[in-house]
Amino acid sequence: MKNVPAYLGGKPTREKFLLFGSPQILDEDIQEVVDTLKSGWLSTGPKVQKFEEMFREYIGSKYAIALNSCTAGIHLALQAVGIKRGDEVITTPLTFASTANATLHCGAKPIFVDVEKETGNIDTEKIKKAITKKTRVILPVHLYGRPCRMEEIQDIAKKHALFIIEDAAHCIEGKYKDKKIGNVGDITTFSFYATKNLTTGEGGMLTTNNDKWAEEIRIKSLHGISKHAFKRYSEESYQHYEVIYPGYKYNMMDIQAAIGIHQLKRIEKNLKIREKYWKRYNNAFCRMEEIIIPKEEKDITHARHLYTILIKPELLKITRDDFLMLLTKENIGSGVHFTALHLHAFYKKKFGYKRGNFPNAEFISDRTISLPLSAGLREEDVENVISAIMKILNYYSLFSKFRKSS
Ligand SMILES: *Cc1c(COP(=O)(O)O)cnc(C)c1O
Repeated sequence: MKNVPAYLGGKPTREKFLLFGSPQILDEDIQEVVDTLKSGWLSTGPKVQKFEEMFREYIGSKYAIALNSCTAGIHLALQAVGIKRGDEVITTPLTFASTANATLHCGAKPIFVDVEKETGNIDTEKIKKAITKKTRVILPVHLYGRPCRMEEIQDIAKKHALFIIEDAAHCIEGKYKDKKIGNVGDITTFSFYATKNLTTGEGGMLTTNNDKWAEEIRIKSLHGISKHAFKRYSEESYQHYEVIYPGYKYNMMDIQAAIGIHQLKRIEKNLKIREKYWKRYNNAFCRMEEIIIPKEEKDITHARHLYTILIKPELLKITRDDFLMLLTKENIGSGVHFTALHLHAFYKKKFGYKRGNFPNAEFISDRTISLPLSAGLREEDVENVISAIMKILNYYSLFSKFRKSS
């Protein structure tokens, strides 16, 4: 029964369920949080300041502003560059909801253009065709941690006087031709959500080199009240504040920063661990006809956030969703990144998008499976994932060959 999928009564590849995207949390992270809790200062304060300074240094940008999410960062970035009702923002349909939702929150319209079939990143040639008089921003997503072709995007932006806001939720460690992501476009946003390369539970960071935007974003992230608002209860005497903008409650708190500080110190070390697991997956899967593995590219540093395979349902006779269920029964967690946004109820209804609009995004959306790839995994975990995938591939591809010849 060893080669029979657990779903059909075989023995599961592992006994304990392997959670997808569980983070690497070490004692030093826990101690830092305990220290914060004992300090009496829980909200935005010294730890956030320290975390921002470390992040700013890591990226090499002039400013780094800590927020409670990447989504908040995209919203504030769009406002900072002046996006308003009626404007158009060009982005990819192969992303998380928040990339396009934040555009809607500004009253602007997200304009989807299709992705490259091989990388899943936005197709720069198609950006050119989508530009109208109303276009203000190009909002690329560095999908799975793979930097987009930023030089081409910068050329387009320059030619048409557009801003570039990058959704780098997957790409903290990424580089495009030796230029650090976060220091390429006008404004870049990062996510520290629970499954991301660096996590604060929930959280985000925004980087820019623009003084005016940085000031506005910082103020708006905390109700729109004047600069030193968070110091109003500090050791200096009570400080009055003034409301300058109708701001938001988007600030990061010290408890979150405490979770992130040591992970940021380990960030390059953890990238090496994920690179190792990535290679192991590639070596195991590169000869399997039934799946497509991620393409390697020169000129970039891939942040290795999500290792995704594309399954070929036509060779396996099962769908991607069947495959996910089979994996779950083997006690292996997995994910789908993403079901293309234009296929979601709201976007279909609001903008009349339908299947067939973006064939490459749909191709990936229908076939993609994300495998566990955290620095917190042990080598055995990775071997379990490989065994489970091999078991399913071998079982179903034999089955399909059998069916063909019978
Ligand atoms: C996770 C994610 C976001 C949102 O990040 P939050 O910090 O949860 O707001 C945005 N874009 C992409 C591509 C993501 O994967």
